[in-house]
Amino acid sequence: MKISNVEVISFSGKTRFHRTRWGYGVWGEERDEVQGIVKIETDDGAEGYFTGGQSYFVPPSPEIVEHLVKPLLVGEDPLNREKLWQWMMGHRGLSESVIGAVDCALWDLMGRTAGVSVASMLGQYRSKVKAYASTAPNLGSPDIYAAHALACKKRGYTAYKVHANIYWDPEKKEPAPGKPAFPQADLEICQAVREAVGDEMVLMLDPWGIYTYEESLYVGRELEKLNYYWFEHPMDERKTEPYRKLTEQLDIVILGPEMEPGSLYTRAEWAILHASDMGRIDTNFGGITGCHKALGFYESIGMQCEIHVGGFGNLALLGSSSEETCEYYERGLLRHDEDYDSFVPPYLKEPCDPMDEYGYVSIPQGPGLGMQFEWDYINDNRVGQ
Ligand SMILES: [Mg+2]
Repeated sequence: MKISNVEVISFSGKTRFHRTRWGYGVWGEERDEVQGIVKIETDDGAEGYFTGGQSYFVPPSPEIVEHLVKPLLVGEDPLNREKLWQWMMGHRGLSESVIGAVDCALWDLMGRTAGVSVASMLGQYRSKVKAYASTAPNLGSPDIYAAHALACKKRGYTAYKVHANIYWDPEKKEPAPGKPAFPQADLEICQAVREAVGDEMVLMLDPWGIYTYEESLYVGRELEKLNYYWFEHPMDERKTEPYRKLTEQLDIVILGPEMEPGSLYTRAEWAILHASDMGRIDTNFGGITGCHKALGFYESIGMQCEIHVGGFGNLALLGSSSEETCEYYERGLLRHDEDYDSFVPPYLKEPCDPMDEYGYVSIPQGPGLGMQFEWDYINDNRVGQ
């Protein structure tokens, strides 16, 4: 079996996500957006795919795949995933998110060919994983968050993660540069949520890297009083020394790095430096192959690693890991004015991450990663062909 083609299927979809001049996202009017699916074919008719599902996913550029990935992979055996991963990681023109999408498609191809799920190819441990409700940022007042958290608790979630005011001025109610941040306003949200849901619900905060060291120390100490579980990605992750100091100073769990490139390699460096208490990675940082290696490393040093964002590839990783290493699935981003549960992207037949009444998301049973596409919709909306 040899790889005969690698391409990105681009099609027009809808989104309410807009990027501000500072690079962060805000919700607004629905607009058209080009979405993509990576497709790998072999000379004997096998196929593998990858796309984001309901999760954060920037499809690789079709030009990068055509000019850099395709020449590297065509003619190779798709079952040699480790060799192809090493080649892609060694290729200086490829980002880890491109490598991640292609690597996930190779795992999907193998699973579809064998007729089994990727979770079982990795060695299945569980068939469902505990989810936390992960809010969209900038939902509004503490009351809005408190009511939303309570609604999530009623829906079955046992954990709720706040994204508060991020690249957003809560007084002017408009996009803003990330710094200065609004730690006091963020804490008012965190306090209102704790008061609304009571003591037993697990709570977390993710300020997405906008705090200074001093703000992080202050907010972390207040979160300890509110019995929050983890404090995620509070500062710029390009600097590890402030993280090492913060982790040493605070009792609350510091979680990271989530956005730093380097796949498993930077995760190992952070662990060696004691720059966080729990790790973080997702398939955008080197695919299933890179993440699976990272999880083995974290397990071996007795360190938890919480998988970042949702999606089919991350669910396969969660299905093949124990709760002791990877406790939660990140479900969202959720808004108080949208019903996540009833939304299925029009290019998918089934939602990526259905959740039961006890707050557990099922691991897709395959074959492959379990993506089932609405090809009529995709073909009707193809662009750039
Ligand atoms: Mg985060």
